[in-house]
Amino acid sequence: MSDILVIGGGIAGLSAGARLSADAKVTVLESETALGFHASGRSAALFEQNYGLPSTVALNKASADYHWHANGGYLSPRGFLLAARAEERASFEKDAETLGIAEISPERALELIPILKPAELAFAGYHEEAYDIDTDRMMQDFAREIRRNSGEVMTDARVTAISRQGETWQVTSTRGSHTAARLVNAAGAWADQIAGMAGIAPLGILPHRRSMARLPAPGGHDVSQWPMFFGVGESWYAKPDAGALLVSPAEEDLVEPHDAWADDMVLAEGLARYEEMVTEPVTRLLTSWAGLRSFSPDRALVLGPEPGDPAFVWCAAQGGYGFQTAPAASQLLADLVMGRTPALPGAVVASLTPDRFRR
Ligand SMILES: Cc1cc2nc3c(=O)[nH]c(=O)nc-3n(C[C@H](O)[C@H](O)[C@H](O)COP(=O)(O)OP(=O)(O)OC[C@H]3O[C@@H](n4cnc5c(N)ncnc54)[C@H](O)[C@@H]3O)c2cc1C
Repeated sequence: MSDILVIGGGIAGLSAGARLSADAKVTVLESETALGFHASGRSAALFEQNYGLPSTVALNKASADYHWHANGGYLSPRGFLLAARAEERASFEKDAETLGIAEISPERALELIPILKPAELAFAGYHEEAYDIDTDRMMQDFAREIRRNSGEVMTDARVTAISRQGETWQVTSTRGSHTAARLVNAAGAWADQIAGMAGIAPLGILPHRRSMARLPAPGGHDVSQWPMFFGVGESWYAKPDAGALLVSPAEEDLVEPHDAWADDMVLAEGLARYEEMVTEPVTRLLTSWAGLRSFSPDRALVLGPEPGDPAFVWCAAQGGYGFQTAPAASQLLADLVMGRTPALPGAVVASLTPDRFRR
């Protein structure tokens, strides 16, 4: 018997499992044959402290030290550039203020991203403090930490039934039967389904698809030092990726939980928005994919025990911020489960726990 079963082997479940494994015997159950197969394997891997709601930003900031220093650090320089047309001034100012971006001249923006279209680019902003996260290594390191603390990480273990015998959870997976005193629900897009299996009321955590195309380096440029660049209002974005360029329509389309794929029409429209701002046309895709960003009704993460049933713990609704928040979110979750006082301010904690939906 484990002390804690964690359902979901994405960044949420692995980071929570690692933190909890310092004090408890943890088993992570993951449906797929590989860790990080769903949202966690499909992200843009960016750490931008100012991106998200205030509670997300608080988690981002509290995660920075871990991102920089744990296991040799996970961050490398990227930068973040916002590109706007003349008629987009108001949206530009709003984004720049929210994200703490300083305005730069269009000429400077062209030095940073030489394919921006001078005729379209009226305003630009730049923020140097945005970083690439080594997401694969981070997930593997959390899994290693669980195993080092005598825990287990089981893949190909789809949870199919959950029941309770007295104080003990009985979980059936495709790998067999598992028992534990506590359950952590880190099932991403499937979080409400897992709650339903456990007899816990859903919270309304809804998956939203976001697609991504990988293009050959435009015009044969060396893109490796380019910052990530965005259209205002997050209408599209582009990011260098191992010699190629990722371009996302940045859509947020409500879907059922599933193994997501890019919607061709959405992708084409998003690429057209990107093309309007650059000199190099899109002639070929190397590949495309999509992932599900799951949000709670107020779009903040949901971390902590179910009110009235603390043996069921939520670690869900990571939205578009699962990696940048993971170090602090997992620490908060472990503190709440273990009865320790969290380091984050009380108001931030209150805006993250499931209690806010149960009043
Ligand atoms: C296109 C895109 C770009 C993004 N960019 C960024 C970014 O730049 N920075 C950032 O921080 N975040 C980003 N994100 C968000 C980030 O990827 C997610 O917040 C994060 O991956 C969510 O992690 P998770 O573990 O909750 O979900 P998932 O990775 O989906 O993990 C949940 C796991 O639960 C498993 N599961 C479900 N049901 C069961 C069951 N019955 N039994 C067992 N296992 C089950 C699933 O198989 C899955 O592996 C992006 C997301 C997308 C889609």
